[in-house]
Amino acid sequence: MNADFAAQLRLLDLQAADTAIAQLSHRRGTLPELAAIVDADGRLTGLSDDLVRAQTDVTDLDREQRRMEADVDQVRLRSDRDQQRMRAGAVPAKELESLQHEVQTLARRQSDLEDAVLELMERREDADARAARLGGEVDRVRSERDAAAAARDAAFAEIDAELATQAARREATAATIPADLLTLYEKVRATAGGVGAAALRKRRCEGCHLELAGTELRAARTAPPDAVLRCENCRRILVRTPESGL
Ligand SMILES: [Zn+2]
Repeated sequence: MNADFAAQLRLLDLQAADTAIAQLSHRRGTLPELAAIVDADGRLTGLSDDLVRAQTDVTDLDREQRRMEADVDQVRLRSDRDQQRMRAGAVPAKELESLQHEVQTLARRQSDLEDAVLELMERREDADARAARLGGEVDRVRSERDAAAAARDAAFAEIDAELATQAARREATAATIPADLLTLYEKVRATAGGVGAAALRKRRCEGCHLELAGTELRAARTAPPDAVLRCENCRRILVRTPESGL
């Protein structure tokens, strides 16, 4: 293939723009903030579940406590009523005995219930403290996540502006390159890790970094300027430059 030598040189500009675009896209996709956000989201999911559990515990324990306090009230009421009856006198001996027995039983029951209420209150305090700690943790991770998202957005804005610049540069340069040379460049670029054209500098292919020697070097020396050279090793388009060392 033949192509105007100046067009071959512009291929290097095109390659530079494509390389920049590839690097920017890679940077955009591998920003450390992206991993930080995923990590924070994962921790937030776990923490939020734990927080909901702790809050549910608090609600359940509250309800349980109220229920038990109502039981204590009932037991106390019944005991008061029994004691009033006994104090009022005129209670048949048999009934008096059964009332005394009931008052004793009720006192034990009340004491057990009060112990249970105390234990519930302790558990509720623990659950409360747990919920508060988890709530604080959620806030902390959420602000970590927000900071990472803000840093990501700032990096995206910067990268996207640079991408737009490089895309414009690429478009303008591509428009000046003959269609067949451009097609060859794209074909090679697709199969050679994104590098379709490489400069020949100091007798070295800058695509694969191998030094030209023997017949390949002689062919490069004698080829007319508009001949399109290919590196025999990596098959990339080899563009001669003033620093080719031929
Ligand atoms: Zn090469």
